[in-house]
Amino acid sequence: MLTSIKGSSAVVTGASKGIGKGIARVFAKKGASVLGVARDAGAIEATMGELRAAGTEASALSADVSNWADMQRMAETAVQRYGGVDILCANAGIFPAAKLDDLTPEGWDEVLAVNLKGLFLTVKACLPAMKSKRKGRIVVVSSITGPITGYPGWVHYAASKAGQLGFIRTAAIELARYNITINAVMPGNIKTEGLDDLGGEYLDKMAASIPMKRLGSVEDIAYAALFFASEEAAYITGQTLVIDGGQVLPESLMALE
Ligand code: NAP
Repeated sequence: MLTSIKGSSAVVTGASKGIGKGIARVFAKKGASVLGVARDAGAIEATMGELRAAGTEASALSADVSNWADMQRMAETAVQRYGGVDILCANAGIFPAAKLDDLTPEGWDEVLAVNLKGLFLTVKACLPAMKSKRKGRIVVVSSITGPITGYPGWVHYAASKAGQLGFIRTAAIELARYNITINAVMPGNIKTEGLDDLGGEYLDKMAASIPMKRLGSVEDIAYAALFFASEEAAYITGQTLVIDGGQVLPESLMALE
């Protein structure tokens, strides 16, 4: 049983659906006050409304993680509404597919702007609030794609997700003196609205390639994020945790027979 995060102020980006919604729901259920962030104002309001209807404390902010002014406004809002930023979950991300032949410079920039620069802006904006309390927990949602595996159509995405791990390792050293930890979860294939967009055939074939023969749930990721956000994880920083049902393990298709 982990120490409660009850009473903590948590910011979760990309919280209107998918993994971010799952993390926001679990953090709120565990007693944190959650500021949920996404660009679509109606969607993030509706999702945070669902959490409030379930009797938990959550509120919405429409903001774009690739926009510095938006991220500053996000941190200010968390301080005003909930007294600080104890936990930051940098989850917002995009994964539009395009093979090298079709990928444009603009397409590359868009993915890097949201997934990698967005991480930098999200973290930088929340640091003053964390440093003033001399404590903080930052949990980044990276991926197995890039740091460990490859998949045609996602060079830009893979580069952004591997880049996030480079970011956390140096940030961990800079932030250690303030008692702020930064770690990353690395999901495999998780059943979300974003993944559903890739189509039924993709989902079925992917499930067949996973030793546990199923895609992950958003809760599978949320409870790993909760561990990194807990008091018990105080001495863990700059580290990663793969949550993938064993997907990265098989040496070949024969290993799954
Ligand atoms: P999703 O279902 O598409 O949800 C993405 C969330 O991020 C939405 O709330 C979206 O809302 C928000 N978002 C996107 N761009 C944003 C921006 N510029 N500023 C603020 N919010 C933004 O995606 P998901 O599958 O849950 O993925 C969430 C994270 O997990 C991503 O970082 C992804 O790379 C990572 N991941 C997912 C999987 C998987 O299998 N699903 C596997 C590995 C890693 P708006 O569009 O309204 O902004």
